[in-house]
Amino acid sequence: MITAEEILRKQDLRSTACRKFIINGLLKSDRAMSENELKGNFHELFDRVTFYRSLITLEDSGIIHKIVLNDNSVKYALNSHHHNENNLHSHFHCEECDEVLCLEGKTRFEAELPDDFVTHGVFVVIEGICADCINHTQSI
Ligand SMILES: [Zn+2]
Ligand SMILES: [Zn+2]
Repeated sequence: MITAEEILRKQDLRSTACRKFIINGLLKSDRAMSENELKGNFHELFDRVTFYRSLITLEDSGIIHKIVLNDNSVKYALNSHHHNENNLHSHFHCEECDEVLCLEGKTRFEAELPDDFVTHGVFVVIEGICADCINHTQSI
């Protein structure tokens, strides 16, 4: 299993406590996490600006990506091997438990752009209910 230090070293980034903390949080989770979820019980550990700057640095260097949901809340997920710039993927947002996960596979999206327009990305968030929440409702 790859460590936070190795991920940072690959991108020539210094291993700061805050950067490592964020990456470790995401490595442990298979879901995307918001800033608050990442901080968890460690709100006092890093000041807001440091935390925010670390998120921007990690995003800019392609280590993590940001997912903006319909209510404008933001979650972050690690870029894994199948997430490269040529493989834009979709996300699933569960309306019950608010969890967000990265979906495998390339997003297929058909739209006719006006002449001479260029696409740089397609961001799709699929809204629905996850299997856990469906099973939970059925068992009540
Ligand atoms: Zn759910
Ligand atoms: Zn994702």
